[in-house]
Amino acid sequence: MLLMADLCWFEGLVPALKDDGQWQLFYHADCRFLHSVTGKCSIHGTSQQTGICRNYSPYDCWYEKAFRTTETNMLIRFTSERVEKLIEMTVFDDEGVVQSVPPWNVLQRTFSELPYARTVEPAVQMPVAKSVNDELLFLLPPGKPRRQEHLELIKFRLGFPGIMLMVSPSLWCFALPALVKSMVPENFRKILLQRLEAGVYDAIIMGLSEWERAVLHAGNFQRITHYGAVTQQIGIIPPKYDPDNPGIAIY
Ligand code: SF4
Repeated sequence: MLLMADLCWFEGLVPALKDDGQWQLFYHADCRFLHSVTGKCSIHGTSQQTGICRNYSPYDCWYEKAFRTTETNMLIRFTSERVEKLIEMTVFDDEGVVQSVPPWNVLQRTFSELPYARTVEPAVQMPVAKSVNDELLFLLPPGKPRRQEHLELIKFRLGFPGIMLMVSPSLWCFALPALVKSMVPENFRKILLQRLEAGVYDAIIMGLSEWERAVLHAGNFQRITHYGAVTQQIGIIPPKYDPDNPGIAIY
């Protein structure tokens, strides 16, 4: 839980507890194609728009309910202050393993009195030392497409500012710059970045093996920020499809 509290201090990251008891880490940012004045999709109906967006029902949007309202019954979004409160309310054994947490309705009532406020302060943009190719990144589980819909997911995710795809002959994964919010005092900022660099947060969000991490640290990868580059530069996309099993990509 303390690590979840740390992640609240990175720009865009929102740890959340869902009503099924699962923790999930969200990246909260506006899509680069969302028109800032009209609030509408600027590529609606064009080939640039992903099938995910075209087929998604705006009338029954889970994200709308989860993130556009102040609070929701579906999940609790956390700030570091809320995580500290949750720790106070949780019973741990001598080894720090959670023994019990209050029921969902108690958690909701408690956190409704501790309002969630999304921070809109810009992050500190200064470069940070060392890690993948001399910058600090959160590395997210491998993104190598195996099915046609995985390409759609890549296209969708690359629509969000900051999201990158790191591609090597043997590994694809998503990456996000680790930007500490500007409100964080300098000494704590250093601690957060040291923890990130030491891999303290890996268990929560990386899902990458040692071997995969080594591939990235060797620098043998290409960085992709726009979907067009996936098809133009990588050269192995689009994959072929097995006629007997058209949903599965062949490499
Ligand atoms: S998420 Fe999809 S529908 Fe929304 S603005 Fe971005 S491309 Fe358009």
